[in-house]
Amino acid sequence: MPVPSAPRRTLVTGANRGLGLEFVRQLLARGDRVVATARHPARANALNHLVGEHPGRLHVLPLDVADAKSHAELARELHLVTDGLDLLINNAGVLHSGERFGHVPPAQLDDTLRTNASGPFLLTQTLAPHIADGGKVANLSSVLGSIASVDGFHTPSYAISKAAQNMATALLATALRERSIAVVALHPGWVQTEMGGSGAQITPEASVAGLLKVIDELGIDDTGTFRDWRGHAMPW
Ligand code: NAP
Repeated sequence: MPVPSAPRRTLVTGANRGLGLEFVRQLLARGDRVVATARHPARANALNHLVGEHPGRLHVLPLDVADAKSHAELARELHLVTDGLDLLINNAGVLHSGERFGHVPPAQLDDTLRTNASGPFLLTQTLAPHIADGGKVANLSSVLGSIASVDGFHTPSYAISKAAQNMATALLATALRERSIAVVALHPGWVQTEMGGSGAQITPEASVAGLLKVIDELGIDDTGTFRDWRGHAMPW
């Protein structure tokens, strides 16, 4: 049975600030039921405020995407707050700035790979039984993970991790195709968040509105594609 366009049951990772928080705001505004995850729910003040404004429609659960044990705990708790998911938004991500060739700290590269690449891959694998047939998985990628667009030694840990995440997207798309679950990589634009900085080109509101429109319009024939927030195809 096709998943309804709205309202839906959506899980967003890294939802305490930035694009994740804006996803939660816009999903609630259109009537979705949302599971918002954060590393430290007790400190997620903006999310907890939204829980009060949307009783029964927003649940906040702990999740560290870099820790597979945390994925398993989330999967165990999920049934207490929802009977399934129609949309998984792998949004949580990290960017360590200031890396220079010859001085990339191994621990920083490892942390970035766990958070941005293996984290969303393993989380999707763990949550796949909870995602309805015909559902969708949106992986927040970046133009910096586009191998075809490399023009200098910029943010190497982040770039390597997002390129690896793109491969995870392509592989997950093949694994979940038989259940008609579309899996895509999405570049949100250069956005005014803590990661993007105040000089970035677009607001979180505009980026998320565009991304949700792209996600809404996805069909199974679009699975395994890489798009930006306006729906334009991105080079791998
Ligand atoms: P942000 O403002 O820095 O927020 C990052 C979010 O990810 C925070 O909620 C953070 O939680 C969470 N997070 C980091 N590590 C985590 C972990 N191990 N487990 C769980 N949550 C974790 O970034 P953003 O701009 O909203 O970015 C959202 C996504 O878009 C990311 O995947 C990013 O790579 C991508 N993106 C952003 C831009 C941009 O211009 N902003 C451009 C391209 C792609 P804490 O508060 O606990 O740290």
